[in-house]
Amino acid sequence: MAKRVLILGSTGSIGEQALDVVSRSPELEVVGLSAARNVERVCAQAAKTKVGAVALSDPAAAELAAARLGDRRVLAGAEGVRELIAGTEPDLVLNAIVGTAGLGPTIVALSEGIDLALANKESLVVGGELVTALAEATGARILPVDSEHSAIFQLLRGESPGTVERLILTASGGPFRGRGELGDVTPQEALAHPTWEMGGRITIDSATLVNKGLEVIEAHHLFGLAYERIDVVVHPQSIVHSLIELNDGAQLAHLGLPDMRVPISFALHHPERADVTVPRLDLAAVGRLDFEPPDPEAFPCLALAREAGAAGGTAPCVLNAADEVAVAAFLEGRIAFTAIAEVIAGALDALETAPVGHFEELFECDLRAREVAAELTEAAGAPA
Ligand code: MG
Repeated sequence: MAKRVLILGSTGSIGEQALDVVSRSPELEVVGLSAARNVERVCAQAAKTKVGAVALSDPAAAELAAARLGDRRVLAGAEGVRELIAGTEPDLVLNAIVGTAGLGPTIVALSEGIDLALANKESLVVGGELVTALAEATGARILPVDSEHSAIFQLLRGESPGTVERLILTASGGPFRGRGELGDVTPQEALAHPTWEMGGRITIDSATLVNKGLEVIEAHHLFGLAYERIDVVVHPQSIVHSLIELNDGAQLAHLGLPDMRVPISFALHHPERADVTVPRLDLAAVGRLDFEPPDPEAFPCLALAREAGAAGGTAPCVLNAADEVAVAAFLEGRIAFTAIAEVIAGALDALETAPVGHFEELFECDLRAREVAAELTEAAGAPA
């Protein structure tokens, strides 16, 4: 019998690629889709996959979709996404929702004991301690979809935990690697990522390296290693997706051309490995692979994220919320690129870190951090 997969965030870049993987795999079947408000696209996907249920988090969009989808179930709002998870009886939920909105559905899936293929970073960055505890309590598995974490997850198979000394995440370095002064860069320049094609915020997050910082926090929660044992190395070609270092000094690396369908397929088919039709890596054609340390002065966000992760509690939630607000302001031309780090640092300074006992506290912290970050972006002012 095919594995029943529910795809949340189906109209985004990961969602689209996941549908492509599923359409080529006899072992997988899509049982439901969710999107924020892209009615056109989600209706086309529903027709193609013949799913029985769709959820749109925007209620107005849900009404439009209901009119177009006839006898299919169309659910609305955050409550609708919850109903979709409980009602479609999936074996696996792929959470490819962008932003903090993804945390709620992660909690629902794990509470129901459903395995989770996780592409939503915020679930672990913001909710790390509670989310991993919840998965442990219900026995649901968290399967990473992010390329670096998928690489590490694959490398760790068969290694006993005590033998792993270090995780080494690779970073492309973004479009501004080696450029020096970054005060005057435009949103257009920042959106031009050299190796990966991704959505708006994550592309800017890659340019500031905050994305790599968020990935360090994710790795800490997924693999349980202390922050001192998670390193970042800049690797502009994005061929080595990450490495692990073992107690005998051996380092194992995961290589391939950058294509998200590989980690998506691995998470969806886990524990099996399935055929994926992607271009194959030819190392002789690539010729050389370069590595360098990240530049802490040009990219202060990496250290900010690491510090917030190590502080734990509400700090990563503040970091994430402030970054989201600052990136939106940068994309709208309201603040300079370099002000993104200033807004994050300011928000972390303004809001004291508190321990987290319940998800509700995180949602409150998120709102408060957004208010503070909005004030800080106002104060930062427009780029010169
Ligand atoms: Mg990544």
